[in-house]
Amino acid sequence: MSARLAPRVDDPASRGFFELAANGELGVLTCAQCSTRTHLPRPRCVGCGGKNLEWAAVVGSGRAKSWTVVEHQVHPLFPVPYTVVLIELDDEENIRMVGHLPGRVAVDESTEFVVDFEDLGPDRNGNATVLPTWRIATDNG
Ligand SMILES: [Zn+2]
Repeated sequence: MSARLAPRVDDPASRGFFELAANGELGVLTCAQCSTRTHLPRPRCVGCGGKNLEWAAVVGSGRAKSWTVVEHQVHPLFPVPYTVVLIELDDEENIRMVGHLPGRVAVDESTEFVVDFEDLGPDRNGNATVLPTWRIATDNG
């Protein structure tokens, strides 16, 4: 087992994201008034300015929008090289999430990704710590 950098899952600003992840779902803040998605998370809807935002499950697949290979190590838990991919979600134009893939990975605009969920175990307060991760989609899903 390799060491992992675990996210804080009980922060009020992102708790809903990690609660959905623990259920195998990818979450995005969604306005209860106008249904606009707000990503990255912020306190007000980017569509109507409303404050009634809730975490809602979205599709867990997308395509590469941008990518780069990191060759300079900046943290001991992220050995180089690795590939960082900006993934635009299917059916959710303008919602992009960041994926991390070990090694130099061949990616282009047609590369399809699907989300997986890595269970890091409970945090010190017993909260489930599940991290959405991205991998290249295969014919089998
Ligand atoms: Zn709204």
